[in-house]
Amino acid sequence: MTFTTRFAPSPTGPLHLGHAYSALLAAGLADAHGGTFILRIEDIDQSRARPAWEQQIYEDLNWLGLRWRKPVLRQSDRLPRYAEALAKLSDLGLTYPCRCNRADIEAAAGAPQEGVPQFGPDGRIYPGTCRNRTIAEATPQDVIRLNMAAALSDLNELSFIETSETLGGKISINPTHLIEAVGDVVLVRRNMGTSYHLSVVVDDAAQAITDVVRGADLFETTQIHVVLQTLLKVPVPRYHHHRLIRDDHGKRLAKRDDARAIAKYRAEGATPEDIRRMVGLPTIKETGKISSLAP
Ligand code: GLU
Repeated sequence: MTFTTRFAPSPTGPLHLGHAYSALLAAGLADAHGGTFILRIEDIDQSRARPAWEQQIYEDLNWLGLRWRKPVLRQSDRLPRYAEALAKLSDLGLTYPCRCNRADIEAAAGAPQEGVPQFGPDGRIYPGTCRNRTIAEATPQDVIRLNMAAALSDLNELSFIETSETLGGKISINPTHLIEAVGDVVLVRRNMGTSYHLSVVVDDAAQAITDVVRGADLFETTQIHVVLQTLLKVPVPRYHHHRLIRDDHGKRLAKRDDARAIAKYRAEGATPEDIRRMVGLPTIKETGKISSLAP
């Protein structure tokens, strides 16, 4: 299968240096493998997504020298696909509606116990209050969760191939870790019709992504995605978790770090080559091509 990778930003703020690194790395790997680079707009949170930010994404990436397959897939157009995937998981008896709000979850979590993780990649690990409800009882006020223990009881060995140099090789997923340190993740958020996990898994499969290039902060999240891919019987791509671009204090850049926005550097006169240098990638001038990478 042709190497196919994607950059999948949410149009909820400006792209910053961390995004530039991720996009340039993904596009460079696609180039090096004679493959395809896809841009996907992850706009399921319509309360935060803005057309102006989407436009800015196209401008920034174009300016960086990237080109991608058209038309661009926008997740807000794909809600029926996510509903189909949810129905498959519900038919397997692995989902339940949950009416707990943040305060309910805090209250039910009780006092912290030594050695028991309280937070996973999605925040507070769900204490299971609504686990006995059935999907038939779901109301529009509910979120829909995956019953992680039930999901894993039907699955054998779970693993994925990591292709980054630092972590590279076969990564086995520990089911106990997923149950205890990740828990019953949300598949459908309130007023969203889907969640990040569900839509990413559905779209990576629909777009035949062979290689996901994403930040090392999503390593735990990848394990959730492998569970969903296995349950939905779609291929598990290879994963390349890359280093994170940090600020001067060592903190990972976030959307609110406008100071590191690509558009800001651009307005100040930086060139795309300057951006490559800033994120530790060889410049095109040095190598003559986009694909010479130091991941
Ligand atoms: N929309 C996600 C983000 O911006 C995509 C990351 C991924 O799934 O690789 O973090």
